Amino acid sequence: MNDVKDILIIGSGPAGLTAAIYTARANLRPLMLEGELSSSSDQPGGQLMLTTEVENYPGFVDGIQGPELMANFRGQALRFGTEIVTERATKVDFTSHPFTVWSREAEYHANAVIISTGAQSRMLGLEAEKRLLGHGLSTCATCDGFFFQEQPIAVVGGGDSALEEALFLTKFAEKVSVIHRRDSLRASKIMQERAFKNDKIEFVWDTVVTDLVGDSSLEGAQLRNVKTGEESVLAVSGLFVAIGHVPNTSLFSGQLELDANGYIVTIPGTTGTSVEGVFASGDVQDHVYRQAITAAGSGCMAAIDAERWLESQHD
Ligand code: NAP
Repeated sequence: MNDVKDILIIGSGPAGLTAAIYTARANLRPLMLEGELSSSSDQPGGQLMLTTEVENYPGFVDGIQGPELMANFRGQALRFGTEIVTERATKVDFTSHPFTVWSREAEYHANAVIISTGAQSRMLGLEAEKRLLGHGLSTCATCDGFFFQEQPIAVVGGGDSALEEALFLTKFAEKVSVIHRRDSLRASKIMQERAFKNDKIEFVWDTVVTDLVGDSSLEGAQLRNVKTGEESVLAVSGLFVAIGHVPNTSLFSGQLELDANGYIVTIPGTTGTSVEGVFASGDVQDHVYRQAITAAGSGCMAAIDAERWLESQHD
C-alpha cells in the first residue's frame, strides 16, 4: 500500500485544526480533509465561520471575528506543516488497518484517524423547508440578516443561538418575533436579560411552526399554540431556524458506535472511539458543552491520544 499517513484528520473546525497543530508539532505530518464550501453540508472552518463577534474565546480581550479566529487556527496548522486538502470525505473503512478514507478525488490510507466533522443546524422537518431555504428561510442570521432590512423577521428556538440570532437581527428589522415551543427559555440568563431588555424583540410562547407560507419566497409562518391549539399565520419575510444541531456522523454509521442522537461515543475521559486508532473530537462527540474552546481542547486531547496510540503500536 503506497503512502500511508500517520494521521488523517476529517473536518476543519476548532477541534480538527487544533488536532492538526498538535500532531504537526509532533512531526506526524497530518493530512486534513477540510471539506468543500460548495457542499451544502460542509462548512470548512466550522460553525464559527457563520458567526461575527466571538466574545468568549479566551485570549482575545476585545473579542475576535469568528472567520478571523478560524483563519488564525488554519494558518497556525499550516505553519507547522499540516497538509490541507479541500475535499470532503465520502466513505470510510475502519474495519481493516491501515484505515481507508475516500473523497471524490482520491483514496487515503492512515494509521490513525481523528474525526472532527462537527454538527450542523437542526431543521424543523417541514416539507416546505427544502423549497424556501435560501428564499427567506435561513439558519444563519449573520450570513443573511442583511437581506431583511426593515422587514418582519422571526426566529424559532429558545436557546442561546436563537437569542443571539434575534439580538443580531434587531440591527436590521423593526421587530423580531422569537417563536418558542415552551413558556420559558433554555438560553443563559445573560442572553435572556439582553433579549428581554431589547424592545424590538417580542416572544411568541408555547408555539410551534407547522408550515411555511410562500411558493418561491417566504411570506409567513403557520403557527400552532401547543396549549390552546389555536392556529395563526405570522407574516414574515425572514424566518431563522435556531433549534440546535445534529452531528455530522452519517459517514460513520455502521463503522463506529454512535449514541441515540447520532453523536460518536467516546471512551469517557479520552477521545478514543469504538475502533482503536480512530479518535473523535469537538461537537461530533459532544452534545453537552459545544463551545469553540471545548472543541479545541478535545482536538488537543485527540492529538495526544493518537500520538500515544501510534507510539504504542511501534512498541
Ligand atoms: P440548544 O441549547 O439545544 O437550544 C435549542 C432550542 O431549540 C431549545 O430552546 C429547544 O426547545 C428548541 N428546539 C429544539 N428542537 C426543536 C423543534 N423541533 N422545534 C422547535 N423548537 C425546538 O441549542 P443552541 O441554542 O444552538 O445552543 C447550543 C449550545 O451552544 C448551548 O450550550 C449554548 O449555550 C451554546 N451557545 C452559546 C452562545 C453564547 O454563549 N453566546 C451562543 C450560541 C450557542 P426546548 O427548550 O423546549 O428544548
